[in-house]
Amino acid sequence: MSDRLAAGAIIGILGGGQLGRMLSVAAARLGFRCHIYEPGADCPAAHVAWRTTTAAYEDAAALRAFARAVDVVTYEFENVPAEALDLIEAEAPVRPGRRALSVSQDRLTEKEFLSDLGLATAPFAAVSTAAELALALDRIGTPAILKTRRLGYDGKGQVRITTPGEAAAALATLGGRPAILEGVVDFSSEVSVIAARGLDGSVACYDPGENVHEGGILRKTTVPAQLTASQRSDAVLIAARMVTALDYVGVMGVELFVTAGGFVVNEFAPRVHNSGHWTQTGCVIDQFEQHVRAIAGWPLGNGARHSNVVMENLIGADIARVAEIATTGAALHLYGKAEARPGRKMGHVNRITGPA
Ligand code: AMP
Repeated sequence: MSDRLAAGAIIGILGGGQLGRMLSVAAARLGFRCHIYEPGADCPAAHVAWRTTTAAYEDAAALRAFARAVDVVTYEFENVPAEALDLIEAEAPVRPGRRALSVSQDRLTEKEFLSDLGLATAPFAAVSTAAELALALDRIGTPAILKTRRLGYDGKGQVRITTPGEAAAALATLGGRPAILEGVVDFSSEVSVIAARGLDGSVACYDPGENVHEGGILRKTTVPAQLTASQRSDAVLIAARMVTALDYVGVMGVELFVTAGGFVVNEFAPRVHNSGHWTQTGCVIDQFEQHVRAIAGWPLGNGARHSNVVMENLIGADIARVAEIATTGAALHLYGKAEARPGRKMGHVNRITGPA
C-alpha cells in the first residue's frame, strides 16, 4: 500500500506534552522518527523526540517548514487553530482528519454530531445571552452545567447552575464566551472506550475502562469496568460508530456516562487519551502504538486485554510518592516535568491486579 509509511519516515506531532512524549516513544519502537511542534520551551516530548520546532501556532513560516519536513502530521491535543491546520494540510496529510477536529473543538457541534448519529447525550442548548440562558433553563431545568463551547478541558470553563437565580453569575463567570447549557446526567459511573480506526477502515476498540475524576481531573482508570457483557459491547459499538461516521484515522477517546437508561455520550477526544494509559500494561499493543500504526497506514495491532489494571495519575505533589511506588513492582511513567504545580499531570502508575 503506497500510503504505508516505511522505516525511518518522519511523523510530525502538534503538541509536546506527555501524550506527544509517549507517542514519540511508541513511534521510535516501530522505526519512525518524530518531529514535535510546540510553542512552549523544554516540553516533555522534546526529551525523547528526534527533532523539535519551538514556535507559535501563528508562525506561518515555521508551520510550513515543519509540514514540509515530515511525512504525516498528527496531534496530541484538539485545540490546534484552524488557520494553522490549513497551512499544514497544504503540505502533508493530517490524521485524524479535519472533521473530527472541528467537531470536537466545539461542544455544540459535538453534541449535534452525536445526536445526528442517534446517540444519547445530555439535553443541551446553545447559549450566548441572558435571554437564551433563561429559555434553556426553562426547557432543561436545574441542576445544569454551563460550559464554554470551546477550549474547555479538565473541568475548566464550566460552572454548575443549581437554581435559576444563579444564571446571571454563571454567565458572568464564562465572560461572555459562547456557551452550551447541559442538563446534569444522573449517572452511576463514568467509563471510556479507546477506539482505533486504520487507514483501511478497520476498527479495533479496547475494553472499556472505569474512570474516577477528582476536581475535574482524571484520578484513576480501572479495567475491567464494572459492566455487563452486553453493556461492554454496547459501549464498544458506540465508539466504533463514531470513528466510522467521522472517517477517522487514529485513536479516539470516547467518554460515556453509565445510566439506568443506557449509555450517554459525554464527549470524545480525537487523540490518545489519559484514560487509555492502562493499555501500556494491560495489552500487547498499547494506545500509543495503535495510533502510530493507524496514522502510518499500518494494520492495527492486537489490543486484547491480557491483565486487569488500575491506572493512577500522579498529579502535582503526588510526585513525592515516586520513590515509594518504585519499590512496589508497579509500572511507572514519568513525564520529565521539572515543576510539580497543583493539578499538573506529572506521571502515572499502572498496577496489574490480576490476569484478565
Ligand atoms: P467534561 O469536561 O465535559 O468532560 O466534564 C468533566 C466532568 O464533569 C465529567 O467527567 C463529569 O464527571 C462531569 N460532567 C460533565 N458534564 C456533565 C453532565 N452533563 N452531567 C453530569 N456530569 C457532568
